[in-house]
Amino acid sequence: MKVIFHTDFYREYTSDPAAVPGRMEAIVSALQGKVDFITPEPATLDQLRAAHSIDHIESVKLERVYDIAALAAGGSIQAGRIGLAEPAFALIRPPGHHASHSSCWGFCYFNNMAVALTALKNEGLIQTAFVLDFDLHNGDGTINILGHTGWVQILNPVNRTRAGYIKEIEERLCGLKADIIGISAGFDHHEDDWGGLLATQDYETIGRMVRDTALACNGGCFAILEGGYNHGVLGQNVLALLRGLEPGL
Ligand SMILES: [Zn+2]
Repeated sequence: MKVIFHTDFYREYTSDPAAVPGRMEAIVSALQGKVDFITPEPATLDQLRAAHSIDHIESVKLERVYDIAALAAGGSIQAGRIGLAEPAFALIRPPGHHASHSSCWGFCYFNNMAVALTALKNEGLIQTAFVLDFDLHNGDGTINILGHTGWVQILNPVNRTRAGYIKEIEERLCGLKADIIGISAGFDHHEDDWGGLLATQDYETIGRMVRDTALACNGGCFAILEGGYNHGVLGQNVLALLRGLEPGL
């Protein structure tokens, strides 16, 4: 599997939990030797403007995180493009699902998923998309930007039991029609992370369901890293998802 990653993502660009040292390293070491790492280019200003207001982009510049946030968004676009042909993963930070059109919070600056899907749409590569956001937290920014466009469906599962959570995803994917499925992959709902609900094997199950659904609708799929803060389990959780998306990995 192709994993989009840049060594700039090792940088501690802020003091929040998404930016701490060791987080990217934990994932890279779990994936090393199993995937092909690909170096991304930053998103262009036009690609960012397709999802965000100029004022918001300027405010990100003032926070001195523009370069790293644009690189994360660019890596997400690349994962989406590859995802049309084969499953791909954007191992990026800062995360994006709390970034709205004109504001952001929760360790996010640019909405990586919204920038990626909008770029694919504007390039004529897709007509419709589905976003599965299994992060512990609701992807309010993604809903803000994409929720009312008419061409994107979004699921933030809310079931509070482990089995119910998986079932909720399964039911929504059943019969789904979309040109691409984008996963906002936050791992903070893991039993050893903040949310305390999902087991590592559940990420493989979810990945397999997404892969099967994408194949059934002759579409693509890709995933973008969102949250996940326990470095002791984060790498294995990412690997489990990728194994679901690509059996035999
Ligand atoms: Zn989260």
